[in-house]
Order: sequence, then C-alpha cells, then structure tokens
Amino acid sequence: MPLLMIPVQEAYRIITANRTNWGTETIPLPLASRRILAEPITADRDFPPFDRVTMDGIAIALEAPITEGLFRMEATQYAGEAPKLITSRGSAIEVMTGAVLPSNTNTVIRYEDVTFSEYGNKRFAALNASVNPQQNVHHQGSDRQTGEVLLQPGIRLGSSEIGILASVGKAEVLVEKKPRIAIISTGDELVDIQVTPLPYQIRKSSGYQLAAALQEMGFASELFHLPDHPESLENKLGDLLQNFEILILTGGVSAGKKDFVPATLEKLGVQKQFHKVAQRPGKPVWFGVKSGKNAVFALPGNPVSTFACFLKYVRPYLLRETLTPMKAVLSERVVFKPELTYFLTVAASFNEEGRLIANPLKGSGSGDFANLLECTGFLELPADRSEFEAGEVFSYLSFRS
Ligand code: AMP
Ligand code: MG
Repeated sequence: MPLLMIPVQEAYRIITANRTNWGTETIPLPLASRRILAEPITADRDFPPFDRVTMDGIAIALEAPITEGLFRMEATQYAGEAPKLITSRGSAIEVMTGAVLPSNTNTVIRYEDVTFSEYGNKRFAALNASVNPQQNVHHQGSDRQTGEVLLQPGIRLGSSEIGILASVGKAEVLVEKKPRIAIISTGDELVDIQVTPLPYQIRKSSGYQLAAALQEMGFASELFHLPDHPESLENKLGDLLQNFEILILTGGVSAGKKDFVPATLEKLGVQKQFHKVAQRPGKPVWFGVKSGKNAVFALPGNPVSTFACFLKYVRPYLLRETLTPMKAVLSERVVFKPELTYFLTVAASFNEEGRLIANPLKGSGSGDFANLLECTGFLELPADRSEFEAGEVFSYLSFRS
C-alpha cells in the first residue's frame, strides 16, 4: 500500500491550526521573561510623565533664539524634586538631567555653553553659545500618552517588554500558563546513559537533546522511557496523557514490526492529524490531539530526524512563532531527486556582507549523528525541485539560539 504523505507546508499548517492554550496565571514580573503576555498593557501615565530635563545645565524662559545673555542663578532643581520657579525673566535655575523642567522656564542650556561667575553673594551664568527655545527638554507625553496600548496580548516577553511592564508599574503580570511536557523515548535497544551498552544496544541520547532545546526555549520537561510493547505503551501513555499536556515521543512510528506508537495513541483517543510527511529526514512523523487538552508529537527515532521534526513542528507549536522564518544562502549546488522536502544539514555563519551562508555538511539526510557538532541547523529545500544552485536563498531552521 502506498504511503499517504502530506507536504511539509500542510503538516505545518495543521500543527499551527491545532494550537490551544492552557489558561492564564499571574506571576511576578522578574519571572516573566519568555512568557506569553495574556493582557493588554496600557500607559498608566504620559511618557515621559513631565517635561524632563535631558542635560545638566541651566533652565531659562525664552521666546526667540538668542546669542548672548547673562542670567542670575536662583536655585537648583534636582531630579526627584517638585518643580521650582524663576521669579524674573533674567533669572535661571540650575537643573540636573532627569529633573522636572522648572515651571515657568522652557529651555535648558548645557553647562558646556555657559560660564559661571560670582558678584557679592550672587551667582551669574553668561551665555557662550546661541540658544533656542525648547532645547534639551523631553516633553511630557511625547513618547506615549496615558491610555495608549503599549503591549498586545499574545506577544512573547523579552527584556524590552519587561522594561515597559516595569515602567507602567506591573509588579505582577498575567501570562499564559505553560504546558507540562513529557519527552518519551521508545525502543528496546536503548539503555540509560549511565549504563555501558552491550554491543547491540545504544544509549538514549535524543531525549536529553530535546530537553535541552526546550530549556533554551524556556520550557521544563520530564523524561520517560517506554518499551516496544503494546500493553505497556498503552498503560503508561494513558497515564502520561492525564498528567501532561504535551507528549513528545521518539521512535516507534515507522513501518517496523515493533512500531506500535501510532496505533496505541489512536486506541487511547488521540486523534491523528497526520502521519508521514513528504520530507527527509523525518518522513514517519505523526501528530495528534486529544479533546482539546493534549497535543502529541510522535517523532521518528533517528536523532537527526527527531531534531529536524522538533525544529520544524514542535518548536513553532510551543513558541507560537508567527515571524517569517529565518533565511540563509546555499553556498554550493545541491542535487536531491526525491519529491520530498529536504532538510539539509548545514554549518551556517555570517559572511562579511552580513549574509548568512549555509554550507552543506557531508552525509546530510543519512541521519548521521557525527555531524551534529559542526551542524548549526537545517536548510529547507522545497520538494518540487531537484536542483538547488549556489547563491539561492532558502528557509533555515537554526539549532542555535
Ligand atoms: P525508530 O524510529 O524507533 O525505528 O528508531 C530509529 C533509529 O533511531 C534506531 O536506530 C534507534 O536505535 C535510534 N533511536 C531511537 N530512539 C533513540 C533515542 N532516544 N536516542 C538515540 N537513538 C535513538
Ligand atoms: Mg524503535
């Protein structure tokens, strides 16, 4: 029976259409980095909230530009003090950066542009540069006005957004809850990493790799291992579906006689959304959902396939990425005949013109683990072509954050 494969774009569309959210929670601001905002954030006051002095110097009242003048110093206005006043036209107040502009002044002259002198107990400032009204003042509300929406729900919070939240006094912020994530390896040939494998066994490695990748994205996960045995799979997966919203399985999804994962998941009520995608590596990838609560990604066991599928499907699902994907330039001609999207393993780096150049690694597509250290990601070569020329630009899935 021929395999019914769907194109990569279709698989991606299905994944994104099946995103759910897991409710919201209020958390302290210092813990909010990388979380998804769940409330609109508005300016609680004008930004800046008052006419703010932007230079250390003197503040005066001025209607038109002047090139010379002598001002009597009346007081000093420090940052954090209530506004002071000049009592006459010929007076000035010494002002510090961050102070409110004294009430009846309108321009600030930098220290560099005045010379101070003293007569008796009076202090004067003589101008040694031309001055215009409204110099060196950051006007109230010129950045944002009270009530303006600063951040929309759904965005991922980074350092800039955390700064904005602090500015508007959000000591606590409403964010989307994170799903609980289980990573489940399968395969009777796999042993724990502490164990010395027998000649025909291998260590479970990819679960750790996935957990580390999730950690880089800001998600915790727990590792499990299940044998290639239908009843144990069914029992344990049943429990895991109760306790975790996201299941990421590895192995057991191909056409082998012990590949029980897809049938078991369906038996447990996880509705298959797709199985098998026209891609290499990672063709047998399976995705399903259960009653709006669980999303289950069953990835092929070969570690390179696992990771390609993780980057293409699991990562955007969890991060709700809507950005246009990163692109890179293919450095040399590649020929790939099968009608499959080819996730070419590459070592990519920026050249002197600032372009990201992707160099294909030998053994790409074979699932060769040895390339992993040099490899920085996958270049996504479309299925409808077989010849790809040096200099062409393609989507790039980066491992490196
Ligand atoms: P499978 O998809 O179960 O047929 O596995 C494909 C290949 O990947 C086999 O050679 C497995 O031994 C290997 N493999 C499966 N799971 C893992 C894992 N967690 N870590 C390392 N290799 C794995
Ligand atoms: Mg297996």
